[in-house]
Amino acid sequence: MVSVAICREFRERLSFSGMSDCLFCRIIAGQIPAAMVHQDDTLVAFKDINPQAPLHLLIVPKKHIASLNELSPEDDALIGTMMRRAAALAKVHGYRDRGYRTVFNTNSEAGQTVFHIHLHLLAGRGLGWPPG
Ligand code: AMP
Ligand code: ZN
Repeated sequence: MVSVAICREFRERLSFSGMSDCLFCRIIAGQIPAAMVHQDDTLVAFKDINPQAPLHLLIVPKKHIASLNELSPEDDALIGTMMRRAAALAKVHGYRDRGYRTVFNTNSEAGQTVFHIHLHLLAGRGLGWPPG
């Protein structure tokens, strides 16, 4: 089956590049289940396992990038695509006009725990400012 072959090739590429221990790479490879809400050629979006708001999604590129600090100019379009996907998902879930928050956490003081870049999309309650 084509999908099995692609999955195997992807797994081999992951272990070659040392990313097989990355949680989000493993979710993208289908090795760990997640509540997917969107998938396309460049990114996936799934429900956060520990939601901090009624809607809490993670928009995750298929390309492994550890954090914002590792972005290069060639990733500019990818980040734009992630932001537009967040807006589209907020709209689909009914929060376009009520409002929502999009967050990239970077390194320890911001609380980054998974070092594969991801955009949090939070909505469905009043979100305090300044953030905690
Ligand atoms: P951060 O702290 O910004 O790195 O965000 C990582 C997020 O990933 C946290 O909000 C976690 O709750 C979430 N998370 C961790 N493991 C999983 C998982 N297996 N499926 C979905 N979300 C997860
Ligand atoms: Zn990764």
